[in-house]
Amino acid sequence: MNFFMIILLLLVTIPAWATTYQAEQGDVLRVPAPIQGNNLHVQAFNKSWPIYKKDGQYIAWIGIHLKTKPATYHIQWTSGNAASVSQALDKVEVQKGKFRISHITVEKKMSSFDKEAIQRIRADQAAIKKAYKTPVNIHNSWPAMTWPVKGIISTPFAAQRYVNGNARSPHSGLDIAAPTGTPVKAPLAGKVLLVANMFLNGTLVAIGHGDGITTVYAHLNKVLVKPGDILQQGDVFAEVGSTGRSTGPHLHWGVHFEGAKVNPKNMLISNNIQ
Ligand SMILES: [Zn+2]
Repeated sequence: MNFFMIILLLLVTIPAWATTYQAEQGDVLRVPAPIQGNNLHVQAFNKSWPIYKKDGQYIAWIGIHLKTKPATYHIQWTSGNAASVSQALDKVEVQKGKFRISHITVEKKMSSFDKEAIQRIRADQAAIKKAYKTPVNIHNSWPAMTWPVKGIISTPFAAQRYVNGNARSPHSGLDIAAPTGTPVKAPLAGKVLLVANMFLNGTLVAIGHGDGITTVYAHLNKVLVKPGDILQQGDVFAEVGSTGRSTGPHLHWGVHFEGAKVNPKNMLISNNIQ
């Protein structure tokens, strides 16, 4: 042990009960607080994460971004004030996700976009990014979601497609196949942030749920709400469709959590109620 390591151990006192959690890219961890006290705060991946109280226990929700490099990361807990601070350190070992890989071959003209299309795609992405960053003054006491529609998952989260040998961006959400006109329900209370018509995504809605949680719905047939509208869990706000670049009616559902793209399934109350 070198001198530097000794100093480091003196500065950071690691409690004996520190826990190591296992996670995959795209997971959402629920981590019980190892310490109590006022001003309880948790940090991981250089961000703060929301803490909720359930059955008398404080539990942090931490999103593991799809693109997090497999490695071990710290979860730092603090509570108290300047006069008396409590600290604890948990760890999370992030593994590479086991995601679907597929290869397709298409005619060259079908695999690329013209200049105008690329400009539209960029503007669309900027609008979605802006929605992700919009603070929403809503607080769900336990942000477990319900399915927005029920159907077959036609493309799983993070599926990786290669078109003519070139990797496309991994699939940023879940595709749920359902007939055109199927009602789409808010999976959690929230505020409508964006209603737009986009080149690839077709008719799209973004909803902010507070605590850095935003959900996105694409390829919609019809939208029944406007930006600013407040929704309760289960409220119908749109219809499934096949607008934009889509090969058949389905709902593309994405979840963004404090900047992390996570698998929507990992935000559900139960992921086997499909
Ligand atoms: Zn999709």
